[in-house]
Amino acid sequence: MSIFFNSAYKGLEPYIPGEQPQDKQYVKLNTNESPFPPAPGVIAAVNDKEARDLRLYSDPELNPLKRQLAETFAVDSKNVFIGNGSDECLNYAFMAFGEDGFAFPDITYSFYKVIANLNQIKVDIKPLKKDFTINVEDYLGERDAEGTRPGIGKGVVIANPNAPTGIALKSGEIARICETNADHVVIVDEAYVDFAKEGTSAVELTKIYGNLLVIQTFSKSRSMAGARVGFAIGSEAIIRDLETLRNSSNPYNVSRISMKCAVEALKDKDYFNINCDRIRNNRRYTKETLEMMGFRILDSQANFLLVESDRISGPDLYRKLKDSGVLVRHFNDPRIANFNRITIGSKVEMDILIEKIRDIQKL
Ligand SMILES: *Cc1c(COP(=O)(O)O)cnc(C)c1O
Repeated sequence: MSIFFNSAYKGLEPYIPGEQPQDKQYVKLNTNESPFPPAPGVIAAVNDKEARDLRLYSDPELNPLKRQLAETFAVDSKNVFIGNGSDECLNYAFMAFGEDGFAFPDITYSFYKVIANLNQIKVDIKPLKKDFTINVEDYLGERDAEGTRPGIGKGVVIANPNAPTGIALKSGEIARICETNADHVVIVDEAYVDFAKEGTSAVELTKIYGNLLVIQTFSKSRSMAGARVGFAIGSEAIIRDLETLRNSSNPYNVSRISMKCAVEALKDKDYFNINCDRIRNNRRYTKETLEMMGFRILDSQANFLLVESDRISGPDLYRKLKDSGVLVRHFNDPRIANFNRITIGSKVEMDILIEKIRDIQKL
């Protein structure tokens, strides 16, 4: 740290991203990327003309992509915010709506705590239940004499499906949290919702609850983690607040090429649906196979599985898999330290993973 660093930031603990090793080729199942390339239209969009046009700024209104998102999700453009990855949407949402603090689960996307600290926002950590499900009651406030619930007096952030558990709440439960906390913003981070059961997404509820902000990303189900595009859907008023912050810090926040790619990705619905189905099938196959090999696996609705075994510790399995060329994600949080999070890749990758685990179990 230099002597010049603003004292407000001296205690910051930055987010630790999953490893992106540049040294050797791994079967990379550690950061929930898609094993499939982006849609053909996306690849075609990255062409000579686009490269030449890089001399121009991108559209600060982000209009073509806003329109495409509005059409895809049957909302108005005014209900759409676009960020440089959903991480940026989350940061703006914390900045904008965090005055009274935010509540979120102990086991969830660890970036929430980081952006809360960055923006000096108080956090209220609500432990998941023993079975790693979210206790919806925690987000409703104590019942008063009439049995009415007053809400919890702060914002709420819920990843749905949650990460790294993969467990999803029903949209009815999200509705209850929004309804009870009408005086604060409820952020639902749907980074993995495209791999979940139909009806999990809360996007439709944004038409009912003006305090609901749903955030999604092109990084997982649309195979564009490197393009850095995320978006938020919510009432016109809260979207306008996010726009105020964006235009006060980085008005050209999404690159021309990334925007073009995102439009093309949305257009190709068949490619998207096929890939989501392939991930769901590979998830079922991997879960069934590992369960037969003695693993305990949470009921994931996402493109990863959180797995543990009595026969090998979490850190041990992580290390031995890495030594054999398969990278998965291990977390140090004591509640999940015996687990590993395994991204669902292609069938070939899943078979390599399974074979390596069989070899490790034989030792
Ligand atoms: C991957 C992920 C994101 C975000 O990713 P971006 O690449 O910034 O869009 C957001 N939330 C959760 C829970 C994630 O796992």
